[in-house]
Amino acid sequence: MTLPDIAVASLGGTITMTTTTTTTTTTTTTTTGGDRASVVPTLGAEDLIAAVPDLDRVATLEATTLASLPSASLSFGHVLAALAWAEEAVAGGAAGVVLIQGTDTLEETSYLLDLHWRHPEPLVVTAAMRTPGAPGADGPANLLAAVRAAAAVQCRSLGVLVVMNDEVHAAARVRKAHASDPAAFTSPVFGPLAVLREGMLVRGNRPSRWPHLHTPGRRDSPRVAMIDACLGDDGGLLRLARADGYHGAVVAAFGAGHVSAATADVIEEACATMMVVFATRTGAGSTLSTTYAFDGSESDLAARGAVPAGWLDPLKARVLLWSLLATGASTERVRDEFARRGGAPGGPPD
Ligand code: ASP
Repeated sequence: MTLPDIAVASLGGTITMTTTTTTTTTTTTTTTGGDRASVVPTLGAEDLIAAVPDLDRVATLEATTLASLPSASLSFGHVLAALAWAEEAVAGGAAGVVLIQGTDTLEETSYLLDLHWRHPEPLVVTAAMRTPGAPGADGPANLLAAVRAAAAVQCRSLGVLVVMNDEVHAAARVRKAHASDPAAFTSPVFGPLAVLREGMLVRGNRPSRWPHLHTPGRRDSPRVAMIDACLGDDGGLLRLARADGYHGAVVAAFGAGHVSAATADVIEEACATMMVVFATRTGAGSTLSTTYAFDGSESDLAARGAVPAGWLDPLKARVLLWSLLATGASTERVRDEFARRGGAPGGPPD
């Protein structure tokens, strides 16, 4: 039987981290042995593949190490470079691609990739919560499951997928919801798209896809702030962001899209010169539109010019706003894209 060609690239993350003795100009990390020793990224894609013997029975793999970073240090540029690598792999005949990275920013990077991925071939992002040296390391199982998903015909045309803990999530919905649990990734409200059982994919949901966005060129990266609503807030941070020249801001608002009356005034002022989007900070659910009418409510913010994020959480809303601003989208286009992508969870009907 001919195995599918799957391209695998790594950007770093816990899945690549081992104990080491490294001296840099700023830090010294010392090996102490045992599972409490601190770790840094050291392994490349080849090493990760070599640690999963069953992989060569699932696919013919080509490994590339794109970077070796904790995912907190990934930039929009790294993600767009990974997108270019994935595009090239598919153009070269890969049936699917797997991108390995850290979990910390995975819910953002995967959505950025998803907004710009235009191929039916699956682009699967995976990671690990435990280091390769930890008891019960989840990296090998996640990589095997990710390659299976990338090779699966049932995963074609679903956009970018996140495979963790034998679950397949839509990049547009997935969140990291725990700091250290191997089951940290969830898709609130609607659940994962599929699960893996005995190595086979079992599909649950089938979201449709919105058309991909144009990939940003090399113009300056827009600056998009993310600001949490919190008790007693007066909108001061948003005012500072505006004064500092930010091009846009996402306010992680209370509940269904609420801020204090004082913050609402600042949002209204800010909307004169920058795009302001508000999303729910609650971790699940959508902004509302017509339920409340107090100063700072969702209907009030919309009337003052802010854009509701709907079902998009604040981090995904920020990624979408960045992508739109990076491609020079007009205010009207930003509103339209948020209305559609933050609307029906599955996108347009099939
Ligand atoms: N804790 C992170 C991880 O799971 C570190 C990172 O995001 O690079 O990979």
